[in-house]
Amino acid sequence: MSERYQAILLFGAPGAGKGTQGLLLGNIPGFFHMSTGDMFRTLDHNSEIGQLFDQYSARGELVPDEVTIKMWSEYVHAQTVLSLYKPKQDLLCLDGIPRTVAQAHSIKEHIDVRGIIHLVAPNPEEMVMRLQRRAIEQKRVDDAKIDVIRNRLDIYERETRPVLDQFDPNLIHEVNAIGTPAEVLGGILRVLAPIQATAHTTVPN
Ligand code: AMP
Repeated sequence: MSERYQAILLFGAPGAGKGTQGLLLGNIPGFFHMSTGDMFRTLDHNSEIGQLFDQYSARGELVPDEVTIKMWSEYVHAQTVLSLYKPKQDLLCLDGIPRTVAQAHSIKEHIDVRGIIHLVAPNPEEMVMRLQRRAIEQKRVDDAKIDVIRNRLDIYERETRPVLDQFDPNLIHEVNAIGTPAEVLGGILRVLAPIQATAHTTVPN
């Protein structure tokens, strides 16, 4: 097996703040943020895959696993070729992947997971409100309708939450998702700073 990328996963329900926190982390030297939602949203809407994404995301559904993993691995490779992501120096912060058990199995070939940040919000209604606010601010059609939001939350419970069972529980760190971005980031960095300090000093198997 070729060397795997050292990675941390940002995990949590839609609206938990993975994207906001991922962007903040991505501005800290040594972290490289990669969001699959952003990857899909930048696709040409007239391309075959862009149209496929539009169909699924409009219903709040997940893009099929095979397409997602293929796109993701090509995308991450492209970032290394462009020298934007430097695998020997940076911790890859994955936001939005893996989102199914099948994706977790496939992606383990490519990544060595050093830690999982599970952003937890005690009140799911808070997530719904956040999603609606964001839909208006960022003109995200997939989050604008309440039935699409409910579908996204159902799919999270059914398909994404079981992904956590695929990893060593010692890797999983719950962080309170409620608070200002700085407060939440503080909780995340308390976990990630020690992980970053030891990353790349051990050789992944
Ligand atoms: P996000 O911005 O992470 O909520 O993603 C927006 C949309 O992109 C999702 O509703 C899915 O349609 C698609 N998407 C993002 N990541 C994945 C993934 N890992 N697997 C399948 N679909 C995804």
